[in-house]
Amino acid sequence: MRFYNTLDFAREMDARDPLRLFREKFYLPSFMGPDIVYFTGNSLGLQPKTTSQYIKQELDDWAKLGVEGHFSAKKPWYSYHELLADKTAKIVGAKPIEVVITHSLTTNLHLLMVSFYKPEGKRRKILCESKAFPSDQYVIESQIKFHGYSEQEELVEISPRKGEHIIREEDIIQKIKELGEELALVMIGGVNYYTGQLFNMKEITKAGHKVGARVGFDLAHAAGNVHLKLHDWGVDFASWCGYKYLNSSPGGVSGMFVHETHADDSTLPRLAGWWGYDKETRFLMKSGFKPMRGAEGWQLSNAPVLGMAAHLASLEIFDEAGMDRIGAKRDLLTAYLEFIIEDVSNRNSKKCSFEIITPSDKLKRGSQLSILIHGQGKSLFDNLTKKGVISDWREPNVIRIAPVPLYNSFEDCYNFGLYLEQAIE
Ligand SMILES: *Cc1c(COP(=O)(O)O)cnc(C)c1O
Repeated sequence: MRFYNTLDFAREMDARDPLRLFREKFYLPSFMGPDIVYFTGNSLGLQPKTTSQYIKQELDDWAKLGVEGHFSAKKPWYSYHELLADKTAKIVGAKPIEVVITHSLTTNLHLLMVSFYKPEGKRRKILCESKAFPSDQYVIESQIKFHGYSEQEELVEISPRKGEHIIREEDIIQKIKELGEELALVMIGGVNYYTGQLFNMKEITKAGHKVGARVGFDLAHAAGNVHLKLHDWGVDFASWCGYKYLNSSPGGVSGMFVHETHADDSTLPRLAGWWGYDKETRFLMKSGFKPMRGAEGWQLSNAPVLGMAAHLASLEIFDEAGMDRIGAKRDLLTAYLEFIIEDVSNRNSKKCSFEIITPSDKLKRGSQLSILIHGQGKSLFDNLTKKGVISDWREPNVIRIAPVPLYNSFEDCYNFGLYLEQAIE
C-alpha cells in the first residue's frame, strides 16, 4: 500500500479502520491538551472507560455483603479468577487449563523457575538475551545463586553481532545446540523491550527441547500485542504483566502459562500456597499439598478482586476486537508510523537522522518502534515531550514508541511526524 504523509491520508485511513470506534472506549490522557500523542501503551496501557464500573461492582458487593461476597457477589470472589481464563487463553493461544491470572510478573517468573529450572549434574546453564529487562536479569541471577551456583558460570547471554542491533535467530539456535547437555533452561523475552524485536518462539522452543532443555518466555511486551500460540509451540511456561498492552491498571495482575503436558505433574518442585491447592478439598485444610490441575496449581493467594475486575474490563474489549483484527491494524499502523519517521528523517538529514532499529519485517515485530537518533540527543526527546508526545527515552539515544491498535489512530502517527519535525533543532 502506498502511504502519504498528509493529514487527509491519515484521516482517510482512520475512516476505513474497522477498529476506529474502539478508541472511544478508552480515556486518552489530556493533561497536555487535546492533541496529545500517547505512544506508551507498551509501558502503561490506557484506562478503559468501563474499568470503574467493574471495580465499583465489587466495591458495592463488598459494602453490601462483606465476607458473604466470596460466594454471593454478582461475580463470586471465590472463583473470580476463573472468569478471566477463557479470554486470556485466546490472547496467548492457550487452553484455559494452561493459564491463570494472579500475582505480579516478577513473582510469577520466580515461581515458574522454581518448577522449571532444576540444575542437575552438568545441565545447569540458562540462556537469555543480553540486555534483558533488569527485573528478568535479577530473577535469573538470583535463581542461579539460590541453587548455589554462580551466574558468571551458568548464565549465557546472547547478543547482537558487532555493529548490529538485533539478535539473529540463527545465533540463538546455534548457541542452544552448542550448549547442548549443559543447557537447563532457555528464558527469553518474546518481544524485546528495548528493540521491539519479536523472536520466533516456535523455533526457539523446538531447538531448546531438542537438547533436553526447558523453554519459557517473558511475554510482558508480547501479550496483547502479537499473535501467540503458546500451546501449539509447546512452550513450557510463560508469564506477562497485565498493565502494558493489556490495559489492566498500574501494577495490575499478571498472567501465567504452564503447558498442558505439565498439568498433572505433581512431582514438579513448587512453592505452594492454599489457592493452588485442589479446589474440591481446599477447605478441609489438610496438611500435604495437593495441587490444582494446570496453571491454577501455581497460585499462592486468593484473588485480588479489584485488580482482577480492572483486568476483566480490558479483556472484554480484547474479546470484542479479537486478536486477528488487532493484528491487522497493528501491522498497518506500525508500517505507517515507520513511513512517517523515514519521511521526516529524509527531509532533515542535514541536521539529524533516525534509524529504526526494530526489524522492518512485520513477522519480527509487534507495535513498538525503537528509534536510534543520530546527530541529536535527549534534547530532541525533551522537545518532543513539550509538543505533547508521550514516549519513552532510553540511554544513550533511543526513543521507544508504540502505536497501540485499540486506541491509537493514523492521525496520531501523522501528528507524531509533525511534532518530530518541529522538535528537531
Ligand atoms: C515491564 C516488565 C517487567 C516488570 O515486572 P513487574 O514484576 O510487573 O514489575 C518485567 N519484565 C519485563 C520484560 C518487562 O517488560
